Amino acid sequence: MHVVACHDCDLLNQLPDEAEATVLCARCGAVLQRYRPDSIDRALALTCGALILFIIANSFPFLAMKSGGFVQETKLLTGIRELWRQELYGLATLVLITCVLVPLLQMAAMLYVLVPLKWNLPAPHAIRAFRLLLHVAPWGMLEIFMLGILVALVKLGKMATIVPGISVFAFGVLVLVMAAAISALDPPMLWERLDHRR
Ligand SMILES: [Zn+2]
Repeated sequence: MHVVACHDCDLLNQLPDEAEATVLCARCGAVLQRYRPDSIDRALALTCGALILFIIANSFPFLAMKSGGFVQETKLLTGIRELWRQELYGLATLVLITCVLVPLLQMAAMLYVLVPLKWNLPAPHAIRAFRLLLHVAPWGMLEIFMLGILVALVKLGKMATIVPGISVFAFGVLVLVMAAAISALDPPMLWERLDHRR
């Protein structure tokens, strides 16, 4: 039995050791602990899926523009390089950070925290990696990138034929899989297990 403060109304609630159901605050009904069976396995599987999708999304062109007899294909990384060449340094850096580096960092941190817990391997600095994971999450903006592609498809569609590539679909699924992986995490349980291993 341990005690936890409700993050909404500050009431101290007693939590059972092995909760087999979602635990609500006795006073205001806020969720204190969500029941997520096999959370480590599911988060791991989803992260591996996300990593594969991320590699596909970055290896194939996401848009092909056909105008006259001229076809131009763009990959995410070549697109960022193109922005840089056009002296849009801020935009290029922002896209690189939010669409490439942050998702990559998130996936790496997830694997670094979850793999050792799953197979009981040593992982120095796992607590730091987990804190980093929770802090960088709001900076991943793949959803906004997807929205940008959709706007481009609609706007440029009048000027040239735009063909969405495999990468666009991979990005679309990646957004969902990444969100599922993060919501499969059970932070209170992970903190507890990370603390035990120190
Ligand atoms: Zn409460």
